[in-house]
Amino acid sequence: MTALAPKKDPIAVEAEVREKIHLEILKRTGAYHSNDHVLLPSGQHTTEYIEKTLVTTEPSFTEGLGAVIAKHFAPWPVDVVLSTGPGALILSHCVARAHPSRPIVVYGTKGLAGGHRRVSLPVEFQRLIRPETHVLLIEDLVSTGSTLNLLTNLVEQTGAEIIGIGCLWRRTSVDLNGKPVFSLVSRDFPTYSPPDCPLCKKGVPLNEEFVRRRAHRRPSTIRGPKTP
Ligand SMILES: [Zn+2]
Repeated sequence: MTALAPKKDPIAVEAEVREKIHLEILKRTGAYHSNDHVLLPSGQHTTEYIEKTLVTTEPSFTEGLGAVIAKHFAPWPVDVVLSTGPGALILSHCVARAHPSRPIVVYGTKGLAGGHRRVSLPVEFQRLIRPETHVLLIEDLVSTGSTLNLLTNLVEQTGAEIIGIGCLWRRTSVDLNGKPVFSLVSRDFPTYSPPDCPLCKKGVPLNEEFVRRRAHRRPSTIRGPKTP
């Protein structure tokens, strides 16, 4: 008798396939780089990199990905989709558009106060999040989760309820106050300190493009007339 190979859980296989498709979509936007040897702003090296500003540049992809997140949260009523900031607003719009509850979309703002990170809601939005409002939080890429955790506290202080958190990409190791999270891709980048980096050892050239681009980033600007 031949031993049967242990069968993989079909749900896990489906999730794996879906994640691969989502990664492929992000690759096509030019946001996701893999099989590379990248210098990170922290000085660590990695094989993968994602450029936040590029993730929602393809409208049809963003709509498709937003619809997947909306479908996941479709069984729950949602009154408000709350974007972590203007950066995740396009994705938030696409999620809200596809959710059967037809929620409204608002965004938080990030800043610093006394050296501490803080988040707030523009005053025009504050009356829209009240006790018992059902809120779905949306972020594009979740790395440390600190903005999401601050926003969760802010929303819960009003008495509103967080239905869940939806995102495109989430580092698997990040903790989000135990809230239900749905992410299209859940992955940690392998990062190496330069002396331990296997790619350095193989002599693969180091790609410093992303760090250089961040350091020299000067948005093109046009100056308007001085206001009197
Ligand atoms: Zn290296």
